[in-house]
Amino acid sequence: MDESPASCIFCRIIGGSAESSEIYRDDDCVAFLDIQPINPGHVLVCPTRHASSFNELTPTEIASALSVAQRVAQVQKDRLPNCQGFNLMLSDGEAAGQEVPHVHFHVVPRHPGDEFGMRRVGKPSNRGELDALAKQLQIP
Ligand code: 5GP
Ligand code: ZN
Repeated sequence: MDESPASCIFCRIIGGSAESSEIYRDDDCVAFLDIQPINPGHVLVCPTRHASSFNELTPTEIASALSVAQRVAQVQKDRLPNCQGFNLMLSDGEAAGQEVPHVHFHVVPRHPGDEFGMRRVGKPSNRGELDALAKQLQIP
């Protein structure tokens, strides 16, 4: 994954040198339709500034992008036929399946029977393991 802004397709979309079907833009972020949608109306919300990881964003950038994602989800529910829910997703890092190294939230409209789903791969844990991990992950 080449992480430089110069070769970033989303920077080119945001800058206007690559085409997209845009639904929203302000100073902090841009929202446009995914070129290979999971369902029709699948939207990507990107901070305007190039950053590859969610952890690089400022609190203001996070708040702006999430607020726009909420508005996107609302118009999907209001205006897409049969939209009965949505998934809000972010893949961060190649191990997580990130393909475009510019932070983006997916807002995926959902309807019954659309066959999209996170596979249920969770395995049962136990209190000992959970408590040990909770100790390791305490947020100061
Ligand atoms: P990721 O796996 O990085 O979370 O998702 C990248 C998403 O960007 C994919 O859903 C893919 O379809 C979308 N995408 C990749 N290239 C383009 C593009 O040039 N234009 C648009 N609109 N979406 C793109
Ligand atoms: Zn970029």
